[in-house]
Amino acid sequence: MSSDAPDAVDSADVAAAADAPEDEPEANDSAVEEAAKHVPSGGPPLRVEGLVKRFGGVTAVDDASFEVESGSLTGLIGPNGAGKSTTFNCITGVHEPTAGTVYFEGEDITGLKPHQIARKGLVRTFQIARELSEMTVLENLMLAPQGQLGESAIRAVTPGLRGAVVEEETALRERAWETLEFFEIDHLAHEHAGNLSGGQRKLLEMARALMTDPEMVLLDEPLAGVNPTLEEKLLDRIHDLRADGYTFLLVEHDMDVIMNNCERVIVMHQGSVLAEGTGDEIRNDERVIEAYLGEDL
Ligand code: ADP
Ligand code: MG
Repeated sequence: MSSDAPDAVDSADVAAAADAPEDEPEANDSAVEEAAKHVPSGGPPLRVEGLVKRFGGVTAVDDASFEVESGSLTGLIGPNGAGKSTTFNCITGVHEPTAGTVYFEGEDITGLKPHQIARKGLVRTFQIARELSEMTVLENLMLAPQGQLGESAIRAVTPGLRGAVVEEETALRERAWETLEFFEIDHLAHEHAGNLSGGQRKLLEMARALMTDPEMVLLDEPLAGVNPTLEEKLLDRIHDLRADGYTFLLVEHDMDVIMNNCERVIVMHQGSVLAEGTGDEIRNDERVIEAYLGEDL
């Protein structure tokens, strides 16, 4: 998949095929328009401006602004409670921001639902929920785009589109196997997700995110609890995908991982962006050292 991903059947193509089969071009216009929006542009894929998120009296994100460059692997770091996860949740529609604007590929996506944002090509990884643990690894992958994209059920009952749905199903299965192979978990395809090790689960989480054929992936501590061998595998896969043009924003505790893998680092502290720069710039920044008081940088 790493060498031929751009040619691989992707969910947007699948959706487009289902919505507008060649012999029925006028079917389901709005979904066709939705699919057509999934086109990469040249600018920074992600720009956050003046983002604020309050939970009652707690200000989790406090006027955060930053940009992520296209095709980059950017690190987002900061002490515990700095607002990193909340920022991810606001970007991907899990939380509605209290204030501020999120732009994805130049388009204001603030307040959209997670599946709408995923359809535009911006996804985050999620922990495998309990009900998904009872499904196989392959089923988890087959379900991922539906879960994020939503409307398959409607298409499945729309007269004239059923044939396309079967084609979609076949393409989806092919893509699922490709993705499993890419992450080297194809031997686990028929295993219940709940039986995977912590590290294998992280690979599955990332595989699920990629099933939606995103432009950009937000990773919130993808290496937490992962053994060194799998950690290396995950990082290798991230670098492969990046070489294919994917953009990553990575939250990670381990500074060495950030310093060794990210060409740009954004530091959050108390809900705001404290500093931005290369790993070396960040490591030597007085404000950053102070924010991490006592912790190794
Ligand atoms: P980080 O991911 O950088 O560790 P978080 O974004 O998880 O930080 O949390 C930032 C702050 O917001 C913390 O003080 C946390 O307790 C608070 N917070 C996060 N989510 C919620 C929530 N759903 N309800 C209330 N407070 C929250
Ligand atoms: Mg967090």
